[in-house]
Amino acid sequence: MLIVKKFGGSSVADAERINNVAERCIEDYRKGNQVVVVLSAMGKTTDALINNAQTINPNPPKRELDMLLATGEQTSVALMAMAMAAKGVSAISLNAFQVAMHTTSAYGNARFKRIDSERILNELDSGRIVIVTGFQGVNRRDDVTTLGRGGSDTTAVALAAALRADACEIYTDVEGVYTADPRIVPHARKMKEITYDEMLELATLGAKVLHNRSVELAKKYGVQLVVRSSLNREEGTIVREVTSMESMLVSGVAVDKNAARIAVLGVKNEPGIAFRIFDLLAQRNINVDVILQSIGRDDTKDISFTVDQEQAKEAVQALKENKERLTIQQIKEEKNVAKLSVVGAGMQSNAGVAAKMFEALYDVGVNIRMIATSEIRITVLIDLEDVDVAMRAVHDKFIHEK
Ligand code: ASP
Ligand code: MG
Repeated sequence: MLIVKKFGGSSVADAERINNVAERCIEDYRKGNQVVVVLSAMGKTTDALINNAQTINPNPPKRELDMLLATGEQTSVALMAMAMAAKGVSAISLNAFQVAMHTTSAYGNARFKRIDSERILNELDSGRIVIVTGFQGVNRRDDVTTLGRGGSDTTAVALAAALRADACEIYTDVEGVYTADPRIVPHARKMKEITYDEMLELATLGAKVLHNRSVELAKKYGVQLVVRSSLNREEGTIVREVTSMESMLVSGVAVDKNAARIAVLGVKNEPGIAFRIFDLLAQRNINVDVILQSIGRDDTKDISFTVDQEQAKEAVQALKENKERLTIQQIKEEKNVAKLSVVGAGMQSNAGVAAKMFEALYDVGVNIRMIATSEIRITVLIDLEDVDVAMRAVHDKFIHEK
């Protein structure tokens, strides 16, 4: 079997953990498997590097930031190869340039275009464990790029697809994918299986366990994933197309505290206004999520929407600059809000999920500010201070009571 094993930063945070990961990989190798290991930077290294950069220049050139951040992963792979060598196993570390993992040029947010598999396959054939840097790539100018925070998961899936691996295992510091954050919801449980679509919604909605693009890629190339702990032998959660259980009505609850709500008040109630507002934001690459438009009164209406907090300032600025043209009377911004979502493939064929969610919120006196739905999710915007109570209530309504 060819196995791709990815370990996150906390799993390689110090020498002891690196040794532990080395042992685990060697175990598979000794059973006769070909093993490719993908690593993140040790512990909080990436955060520290970003801090370093900002002390020197609060707004560092993006190319140089990627050059810097990529060193984190290079450190871990080299140390891992040394750990394996000390245990008498032949291993080799490779960075993105050496493998040739080609990406687009978007520094800080690059996407894979093509991965050369030759070097890795040759090393495997000569009996080595191959250890590859996560999170980084190389663009057509031969410059180093990075894939966005948490991107090492995506490296692992892309490699598994390119190498046609038999298994892709994502090791982390939790035991798998949970129905909600266990730190907030004591009844949360680990899921045995989850579909790509559900996982994609959860990952996008704030469950940090997998990089959302890794799930997109896994779905596209049919790479079955397992998410499990690097600290014990528990089975973990399988992510794949069809789960064997009947689809759960709601498989998970996610919270995104990184939302800001922007309201534009008193815009003209005529065709084309919404288009101009959202086109302006799209041109500035600002992602808009939940949208609410009030019924027109007199000749005006109000439109509110959510954006990620980091983009709120830019969004407000853009709207201000175009206030006249967009007929806006007033702009309001609010940060003390959060998105709470329920996700489940079973929703497609079941009525009443929304009502049940709203009932759970009503039971604990939480006010709903905005609502958005897709085929397999319902999202509400609530006050930040209500998040924990709301999450427990909604989770237990759907998952615990059963
Ligand atoms: N080291 C990178 C980060 O902290 C990539 C990763 O961990 O997946 O975002
Ligand atoms: Mg991660």
